[in-house]
This record gives sequence, C-alpha cells and structure tokens, in this order.
Amino acid sequence: MPLDNRAVSRLEARLRREIRGEVLFDAFSRGRYSTDASIYQIEPLGVVVPRSREDAAAAIAIAREEEVPVLPRGGGTSQCGQTVARALVIDCSKYLDRVIAVDVEGRRARVEPGVVLDRLNRRLRQDRLFFPVDPSTASRATIGGMTANNSCGSRSLRYGNMVHNVRGVDALLADGTAAWFGEVPGNFPADSNGGAMPERYRELVRRMRALHRREAGEIERRFPKVLRRVGGYNIDSIDEGGHNMARLLVGSEGTLAFFNEIELELQPIPAHRVLGICHFPTFYGAMAATRRIVDLGPSAVELVDRTMIELSRDIPMFRAVVDRFVQGEPAAILLTEFAGDDPPENLRRLRALVELMGDLGFPGAVVEATDPAFQQAVWEIRAQGLNIMMSMKGDGKPVSFLEDCAVRLEDLADYTDRLTRIFEKHGTYGTWYAHASVGCLHVRPVLNVKQELEVRKMRAIAEEAFAMVREYQGSHSGEHGDGLVRSEFHEAMFGGRIVRAFEEVKDAFDPQGLFNPGKIVRAPKMDDRSLFRFKPDYRHLPIDTALDWSEWGGFAGAAEMCNNNGACRARDAAVMCPSFRATGDEQHLTRGRANSLRLALSGQLGPEALVSEDMRETMALCISCKGCKRECPTGVDMARMKIEFLHHYRERHGLAARDRLIAYLPRYAPYAAHIAPVMNLRNRMPFLANLSERFLGLSAGRKLPQWATHPYRNATPPPQPSPRPLPKPPPLAGEGRVGATSGALSARTGARLSDGASSMRQGTRASGRVGAGGRAVVLLVDTFNRYFEPENARAAERVLTRAGYHVVSPDPARGRPLCCGRTFLAAGLVDEARREARRMLDALAPHVAAGTPIVGLEPSCLLTLRDEFPAIMPGAASKVLAGRSQLFEEFVDSERSAGRFTLAFAPMEGRTALLHGHCHQKAFDTVDAAVSALQLIPGLNVETFDATCCGMAGAFGYEAEHHALSLKIGELGVLPKMRAAAPGTLLAANGTSCRHQIADAAGRQARHLVRILDDASAAIGG
Ligand SMILES: Cc1cc2nc3c(=O)[nH]c(=O)nc-3n(C[C@H](O)[C@H](O)[C@H](O)COP(=O)(O)OP(=O)(O)OC[C@H]3O[C@@H](n4cnc5c(N)ncnc54)[C@H](O)[C@@H]3O)c2cc1C
Ligand code: SF4
Ligand code: SF4
Repeated sequence: MPLDNRAVSRLEARLRREIRGEVLFDAFSRGRYSTDASIYQIEPLGVVVPRSREDAAAAIAIAREEEVPVLPRGGGTSQCGQTVARALVIDCSKYLDRVIAVDVEGRRARVEPGVVLDRLNRRLRQDRLFFPVDPSTASRATIGGMTANNSCGSRSLRYGNMVHNVRGVDALLADGTAAWFGEVPGNFPADSNGGAMPERYRELVRRMRALHRREAGEIERRFPKVLRRVGGYNIDSIDEGGHNMARLLVGSEGTLAFFNEIELELQPIPAHRVLGICHFPTFYGAMAATRRIVDLGPSAVELVDRTMIELSRDIPMFRAVVDRFVQGEPAAILLTEFAGDDPPENLRRLRALVELMGDLGFPGAVVEATDPAFQQAVWEIRAQGLNIMMSMKGDGKPVSFLEDCAVRLEDLADYTDRLTRIFEKHGTYGTWYAHASVGCLHVRPVLNVKQELEVRKMRAIAEEAFAMVREYQGSHSGEHGDGLVRSEFHEAMFGGRIVRAFEEVKDAFDPQGLFNPGKIVRAPKMDDRSLFRFKPDYRHLPIDTALDWSEWGGFAGAAEMCNNNGACRARDAAVMCPSFRATGDEQHLTRGRANSLRLALSGQLGPEALVSEDMRETMALCISCKGCKRECPTGVDMARMKIEFLHHYRERHGLAARDRLIAYLPRYAPYAAHIAPVMNLRNRMPFLANLSERFLGLSAGRKLPQWATHPYRNATPPPQPSPRPLPKPPPLAGEGRVGATSGALSARTGARLSDGASSMRQGTRASGRVGAGGRAVVLLVDTFNRYFEPENARAAERVLTRAGYHVVSPDPARGRPLCCGRTFLAAGLVDEARREARRMLDALAPHVAAGTPIVGLEPSCLLTLRDEFPAIMPGAASKVLAGRSQLFEEFVDSERSAGRFTLAFAPMEGRTALLHGHCHQKAFDTVDAAVSALQLIPGLNVETFDATCCGMAGAFGYEAEHHALSLKIGELGVLPKMRAAAPGTLLAANGTSCRHQIADAAGRQARHLVRILDDASAAIGG
C-alpha cells in the first residue's frame, strides 16, 4: 500500500473527526508503540485506542479508505515481532476489555479482545471455572493477543493451546464484513444457518474447504505431528465433514481479521493439586526421563535448569523458596504436577512418580509439595523464568528466535544435546526451561544483536537449529508465533506448496493486504537489521549524567533494560505501576517511560527530546514509588531515571515556584517552625488555600501538613563516660575503611568525604540520651517527622531508651538539622541533594566508623541513604553508610533476632493492627520487619494487604493537577481497605504522605508503628 505523508495526515484528521477513541500520532506515542517484546522496532503511522467495537470498526474503515495498513494490538508482549508494523495500531487493551457473558452451565465465556487473562480468571473463580490456557504473561496478555498468537502454557499437555479452547470469534474482515467464525457443519451451505451468514463468510468457507481438498495430502506430509505447532495458518483444521472456522483465525497474528469478540471454552478448577519436584544430576537424564514421567498422566511437566536455579538464588525475593525446594546442586529439575478432583488419586500418582524416579536410578530425588501455597511459590519462580534470565545486564542478552521449537518426547534428549553443541560451536550458551511435557523447551542463546557479527551468528544458529528440528519432524514455532523472526523459515519447514497455500488464505481473507503486513506470509528476512530495535546506526547521544549509571553501562543502558515483557502492565501486581493502573495508558507505564527515554537518549525522537515537554508529560505521572525497582523483572528503576530526567529538564527550563517551595523545605523549615501558627493559617482559611492553588498549584482541596509548634529538638545530651558501641558489624560487600575514599568521589562534584576522626576534629557534634546498658543508636529524624509529627520521633526515642539503647542525634558541624535531600531529588536538584548528602556523610562518619546503626523513621528519607546516596556520591563511604542505615522496624527486628531487643510490651489481646506498607518499604522488602516489630506486642494480630501506592507519593497528591489522580490511585486498594477497617483497629502506616492520604481521603487516623510500640511499652511501665 502507498504510504505518503499526505495519506497519513488525512488519516489522522479523519480519525480525529470521525471516531470517539483516542488518536495518538505524535512522535513519542508512535515511539512507544514501535516495539513489542521482540528484537524488532517499527514505528507505526499512528495509534487509535478505540472506546468501542464501533469505534474500532470506524477506524479500520477509515484506514482501508486511506489505504493504510492496520495492526491490532493487545498487551504488546509478543516475542516474535508480530505486534510491530508500519501501520495504524488499534490498541484494544484500554477500553475493549469487558467480559460480555459467562454461561456457567455450558462452560463458555464471551469476551472482548482486550480482556487480560488473569482478570478473566478472577471473574470466573466465583463459578469455580477457569480458562485453562496459561501463558507466563497471564497478568497482562489479552485474550485477543492470545487468540491471535495461538498461545499455550504450562498445562497444554492437559488442556491444549488456544486453538483447542476458542469456540468462536466475532471478527471484522478487511472489507468491513462482520461475521461470526465458528462451527461449520459438514452439509454447509445447505444447513439453515448457512443462509444467515454473510455471503462473504460463506465464500470464505467454500474457498478454505476447496484449498484443503486440494492440499490435504501435502498437509498430511508436511505439518509436524506435535501438539506445539503454532506456525503458519491452521489449514490442517479444515474438514469437509465439519470444522470450526475460528481455528483459522487462531494463530493468525492479526493478519486475517480484527477480533471483536471471542468465545472461550472454560474448565472446572481442579479441586486438588500436588507437585513432585524431580531432581536430576544431568540435564540429559532429565530429558530422557520426561517421556516416562508424562506416561503417569501429569497436568504439567516443566523444566528448570541449573543456570536458572542459580540465577533465582541470586534474587532475594526467590532465594528462600528455591532453598526450600532444591536439594543440593541438581543439573536440572522437572516440576511435575498432578491435578484433579480426587486427592487420593493425585497422591497415588505422586507416589508412582517417586517410584519411577527410583526405577530410573534417582532414588530419593523427589521433593513432594502438597501445600498449595508452597506449590504456588514454586510455580511463580518457573513463571518468572524468562524474566530471571533477562535480568542479565550489559549488551549481551539472551535473544529470542528459536526458543520454542518443539520436538517429539523421544527426541528431546538428543535434540537438546545437539542444540547445546551448536551454541558451543558459535561461542555462546543458553539457559533451558519450560514445557518438557510437550517437547517445547525455551532456550535463548546469549548474543549482542547490536553487532553485525553477532547478528550473523544468530542467523547461522537459526538455520542450523531449524534444520535439525526438521530432521526430528518437529516444529520451529511451538509457542510464541511467527512474526518477523520465524515467518521467513516457513518455506523450509512446510515446503513451498504449503506456503503458497498460506498466501492463498491471506489473500482470500484480506486481498488488499490491510491487516498486519509481512507476518506469516511474505515476510522480510529475520536478520534485516533495519527492522531491529538496535539498528546498525543505533547510538547513544553524549550526555553528562548527574547520577552514577555505571552499573548499567550508562543512563541509556539502564533504559535499554526494558525488554517490553509488559510485567508493569499487570493491573493487580503488588505496587508497579500505579500510574498505569489508574490511567490504562501506555504513556503512563514503566515500559512507556523506559521506551521514551531509550528513544530520546539514542536521538530517535530528535535532538532535544530528553528535555522536551513530551518527555515531561511522559514522566509527570511517575510517582517514584520504586515499585518497578523491585517488581520489574529486569530491574528497570524508573524512580531513579526520573531524577536524572528532572535534573536535565530543570537545567534547561528552571524551577517552578511550587517545586522550589517543596524542594527547599528542609532549608527554611527551621525558620518556618518559629511561626508555625501563621504557617498553619492556610489550612484554616479557604481563601488562602485558593490562593495557594492559584499561584502555587497546591490543591485547595488538600490540607497541607500541619507545622508543629514544638518540633523535635534532638535527644538529650550524652552523659559521661562515652557509650558502649555495638559489637563490630559484619563487613559489607566491597566495604573499605570509611573515609578511605576521601577524594575519590564524583569528579563532577568534587565532593570529598572526611574520615570519622577528622569529622570529629572538624567539630561534628552529637547529642544523646542513654538507656540502661547504653548501646549507641543514631536516630536520624527527617524533616517531616521533625517539623510536622515530632511525636513520632519522641516515641522512637522513648522506645529505644526503654529498650536500653543510647540514642544519639547526630548534628552537623553547623546550622540546621541533617536532611537526606529527598525533596531536592524529587525536583531533580541533584547538586543540592548532593550537598545534603555530603553534610550527612560528614556528620555520620564517626558513627559509621564506630559501627553504630543509623536508624530512621520515614521510609522515603532513610532509604534515600541506602538507594540514592551511592548514585549521587559513588564510592565506598556512601556504600558503607547505605549498609548501616536501617528503618526503625528493621533495627528492632534485627536486634530482636540477635537477642538484644528484649523490651516488654503490654499485651493487646484481641486487637488487630492493619499495616499499610509504604511503597519504598515494599521496594526494599522491609514490610516483614515492620510486621515482626508489631508482633512483639503479645496478642496483637497484625494484618497486611497487597495494594499499590496510596496515591499521595510525597508532594504528588498535593499538586492541583494531580489531586484527582492521586485519589484514584488510593482507591485502587489502600483507601477502601483503610475505610473498611473495623473500629478499634490500629491503623499503621510509616509514610508521612500515606498517613495524610488516609486521613484526607479515608477519614481514618493511621499512625507510625513506633507510636503503637511506644504506647504498648509505656503501658507496661518500661
Ligand atoms: C516474559 C514472556 C513470557 C511469555 N510466555 C509465554 C507463554 O508461556 N506462552 C505463550 O504462548 N506465550 C508467551 N509469551 C508471548 C506472549 O506473551 C503471548 O503470546 C501473549 O498471548 C500475547 O498477548 P498480548 O495481549 O500481549 O498480544 P499482542 O502482543 O498485543 O498481540 C499479539 C498478536 O495478536 C494480534 N491481535 C491482538 N489483538 C487482536 C485483535 N483484537 N484482533 C486480531 N488480532 C489481534 C496482534 O496483531 C499480534 O499479532 C511470553 C512473552 C513474554 C514477554
Ligand atoms: S519496564 Fe520492566 S516490567 Fe515493564 S515492560 Fe519493561 S522490562 Fe518489563
Ligand atoms: S516508580 Fe512507580 S510510578 Fe514510576 S514507573 Fe516505577 S512503578 Fe511506575
């Protein structure tokens, strides 16, 4: 189709006029839709986010009239490049996401294409039903995408692929005909229903049957006889005696029609499952045993190899579970599940598995998991397989191009062995995992596709591997589809005659070539680098960064870590990504931001893109919750990237009055505190609130934090003699003597750090208060607790003192109290934040050198020492300080474990504490410590809950333009939960802004946990 600029402009203008949906044609939006989870990148012409099927139909009609191709899209998580094209993208994921009807009796559901699998299954759970095709991307894969990809999952052995579970599709053809694709009887078209079908559809049925009649012999000869064959069109499913036309659409990758609705077959949820975790000393042994294990009738047999086990052990989140289910150092593990309604039968099969393993020469090699929670935890690690692999940093990455070949089980051991040797021959290696039960193993050789030589290697490996798969009569495309990476190889796999038949199918459905051109048929070469994400001319623009990005090989390297797997699109993940969950926009998604940054940093959005308004808008709703830092499988840390972006943006555009007011709070707070009653007038006088909205952009609907008339003034001075230090702490990784790096800090800042002794000489002071026993603890009181809620700091001091610690308040040599610099970082004022960090490092140096723990109350402040300090002041000193800094609850928990925290608390029998973890607590895995600290109170029942951010996120919720969104985010979980808490429940929230949001929007009073501990220890007279 011709694609000149005028056609594109006309298209955009018409779309804006004629449809109700969102129309996105700007360079940033097009950039965000130019990648899926493959190695490819093709910029679309524009994007439509339709509000209804009528909208989608109208957009497709306009595209047809303007002769512009169309690319339907769901979550954009495909791995083969089937979701990128120079076309008009129709994004179904935002509005076309309804479950239309569920027929419980008939076990069917009708859904719109944008429904996400996990959401559908949550809806079905009430009827004890589920949709059984379970790709690892269940949290964000849409049913439309799954249908078009013929997706499959771990349990395909029992339930099959999408093609076995889709009953019908309501589809829109390229010429505008809408038709129901479903069962067609053998006597068609004499059948009465045939008459009700559009003639266009009947013509398609006739043509497909004629094609099948003609090609039946060739199909029988050339189609691989394995369950996991998803390549090409499903012409093997056509049958003169009656067949389902929807099966032709399944696996068609958006090339034949647009799906309006899909009818799915549902299954009852098995009442009971058991898991046998089979350990093998050799990889070959595991592969050779698979067939015998499959004979026992499991619902899944999934492989995890040694590399994967080791990589998962390195991930803190997974370590405990891995240590529980992996015995010793196996070369491979097969996770074998038996599921059904008859528990004794499942257990009998599990015993049979144990016996079989013994017979195979592996006695005692099965770990039995019958506890559902344990099974779930093990499956979670398996589901994260690819992500665990992709956490690899640097340019060499596991590349997806032959990772789902499928062979017969009898060939599995030889196939994997030979493929490993092919990798070795080309100087690379791969990690193996996934669907052993159906002979479809995922493996990605590690290659650097930014380099021509490595791309050539990729092609050579692909050719050799696919030739081998052909030898075994297997399938080169067994799960993820064809797209750009595999369509080219259909000719070799199926032969020319079948490929011509595929072309005939395409032409019959879509003679104009409207839908997703260049996939499945008439595809370009898989190694055409002009289609790659990293094209031959890919470069990083030179940039002087404010933060240390050396771990990623630079700022651009950090942005490149996003591989588009879409985990951040999950609407029900723990934290990530609140702004997406509230808006549903690709722009306001971790992935959308990472892609925008990558494109800007490589000059693909123009020379000034990094500091442009478009980039500001892209980053505006990132609330720096750090959810992605923990939950993004590849460790994309957008909160840190936002600081870097803001730094450059501020350098170019300066600082707005509101940002200045918030950023410099720690500097003027000591003065403002003297006139606290005046400062608080704004909250009592609506006209002042209105003025603050008008001139500063602070929402008039929000109360600002209340200035305390008596701010916290530090612990009382230390008595003589000097306190006893804690036992020497264990050395930290890379730890050197504090101060040893003096002069070795950022050359850019010229910052120098004094060692402890010289800091003392410079006059750093410390005041303190001693409890019995007198072990020293530095209590670092942040600006917010000091000036707005000083009772929290006093409570912390009391609890620590009662527990026998000597509480030290570190003072800087001169002037106002110490500050972590958080407010400066939030405004991108990295140099100011660095100044604060340097004061902090200097003041704390003697305490750090003495091994004194540094304890703080406000998660976002204290964790700045741990997270951002090393990035703004790289070097051993900040690393050591980071290692010594603890949240109050972490300190209490670790001291309790060491037997040093023995303070008694008054029992609270029958009472419940409902704890909302601050996002940064979650990001640093400290919520458990908070729970443990509260559980020191006898009889107190401590509850936590999964929810994303409260929505306040520092100053975000106070900003007039973000007030509504802030509430919307809070309503996703935290606010309803707090509102619903029974009267008398102790509400705990350690974040200052969380407490404000809860008070403001839920009308409930949450407290820092230290206040609860203080009350309980005071009550016992401690
Ligand atoms: C980490 C990771 C793990 C994965 N694990 C699995 C796995 O276990 N099993 C598996 O099968 N796949 C897996 N995949 C691949 C992918 O997630 C699945 O294929 C998924 O079903 C794609 O869903 P999506 O909504 O992202 O589709 P998209 O990528 O958005 O689209 C997929 C195809 O569907 C077409 N399409 C979308 N909507 C429509 C519509 N309304 N009408 C017509 N065509 C449409 C698109 O044009 C495209 O060709 C994995 C991918 C990743 C990144
Ligand atoms: S930001 Fe992380 S979770 Fe989101 S798509 Fe990129 S890699 Fe995946
Ligand atoms: S920091 Fe939070 S809001 Fe920002 S991208 Fe990450 S998860 Fe989303």
